[in-house]
Amino acid sequence: MSWSWLPISSLVTRSALSKPVTRLYPFERRTPYARTRGHILFKVDNCNFCTICAHKCPTDAIVANKKDKTWAIDYSLCILCGNCVEDCREGCITLSNDPHPPMLAKEIWSVRKDYEAPPPPESPKVVLPGKDSHPS
Ligand code: SF4
Ligand code: SF4
Repeated sequence: MSWSWLPISSLVTRSALSKPVTRLYPFERRTPYARTRGHILFKVDNCNFCTICAHKCPTDAIVANKKDKTWAIDYSLCILCGNCVEDCREGCITLSNDPHPPMLAKEIWSVRKDYEAPPPPESPKVVLPGKDSHPS
């Protein structure tokens, strides 16, 4: 009688009894590392709409308009290169280590100076099954 099935059977038993090594993302989220490139945050207070960030963005994710005093970012285009963070002389843009939640559609966040800004996506939402919690 061959006992060659023993190693594989012990492996199958161990796999069946152990906890899964993967997470059920996005319901279970791992704590981001300190240097994780998560998503872009913007504060309009010091922005002078010089448009440097828009010109340095390799994917045209940022649109800044001096005349309208508006600044917008398309999160679906941003590749988190950090150019805009480095090149903004006013320190308006930062890179959060909290990853942006999965996008179900194009997400553009825009703000206009002197007007009440919508809250930036500092705490990404988790989409629960059966609940439409996608940001509009
Ligand atoms: S965020 Fe910074 S670089 Fe971009 S338009 Fe405003 S001041 Fe200029
Ligand atoms: S991080 Fe890079 S890709 Fe994203 S908005 Fe800034 S410059 Fe553009």
